[in-house]
Amino acid sequence: MAIILDGKKIAEKIKLELKEKISRLDKKPCLAVVLVGDDPSSKVYVSMKQIACEGVGIISKEYHFSTDVKEEELVNLLKKLNADSNINGILVQLPLPKHMDEYEIIKTVSPLKDVDGFHPINIGRFSWGRKKLIPCTPKGILRLLKEYNIKMEGKDAVVVGRSNVVGKPIALLLMENNATVTVCHSKTNNLKEKTSKADILIVATGVPKLIKKNMVRGGAVVVDVGVSRIEDLTKKKGYYLSGDVDFEEVKESVSYISPVPGGVGPMTVAMLMENTLEAYKSQNGE
Ligand code: NAP
Repeated sequence: MAIILDGKKIAEKIKLELKEKISRLDKKPCLAVVLVGDDPSSKVYVSMKQIACEGVGIISKEYHFSTDVKEEELVNLLKKLNADSNINGILVQLPLPKHMDEYEIIKTVSPLKDVDGFHPINIGRFSWGRKKLIPCTPKGILRLLKEYNIKMEGKDAVVVGRSNVVGKPIALLLMENNATVTVCHSKTNNLKEKTSKADILIVATGVPKLIKKNMVRGGAVVVDVGVSRIEDLTKKKGYYLSGDVDFEEVKESVSYISPVPGGVGPMTVAMLMENTLEAYKSQNGE
């Protein structure tokens, strides 16, 4: 039976440490959160981030636009936030509505305030091994592995998913930690053959329960990044969350596994708090 990679517990510990550090600052850091449209998952993520800010002593300011907002209006707000010395971090909740070019929007955020680590300058620095602000989810995954003393050096790591947000940056971080990395995606032939060779398997596809027991090597470390809302009319809530890994099946044969919810999600939020503090410090010459 696997050890659970308890992201919730580790994230609470990290946030307590951050709260203590923030309490010693002259001024409270401030995070601007920009939300466009009414996507229910995005709204939940934004409110979770705001609650976390409150918990650690970061001021959060929300800017909410309707789906049909013009790209220009959003760009103008971002420019204003960039110029405002009271704002230390800027986060644009993704995905943006289809008519907007996410790359162009993200590019507008000052790299110094880009707490999501998505700005091309920050991604470029990251690929060069000159990290400043790096994306929160892969950073959180790495921290989770380190907190459980999971060795990466010399290990075969397989990442399923190649998005800019998770797959590509976690592959970079694993390489940086001397793992040998294979990246799979929807066009990969014989996925099972690849995943079953992994010592460390990171799955970020958004396909519920894609990874079954027969796709995972016994004793592997499995990190499930996926979060899908599944309709469940038998329960009061109407939906439940599923990861990309068939947790009940897979947990029987692996050494470590992260649950959904309670694994990578809380770590992502904790890393956002950490990045906001880092941004504050670099803007204040600390
Ligand atoms: P994304 O941009 O949609 O990328 C999904 C990736 O999975 C793509 O590279 C896609 O391949 C690949 N893929 C899709 N179906 C596949 C299949 N059947 N076999 C192999 N690969 C497949 O998604 P994302 O932003 O990376 O997010 C992935 C999941 O993680 C989502 O459920 C998201 O909600 C979750 N997430 C969670 C957190 C958190 O903090 N917990 C943070 C970010 C994301 P192609 O490139 O070929 O299309």
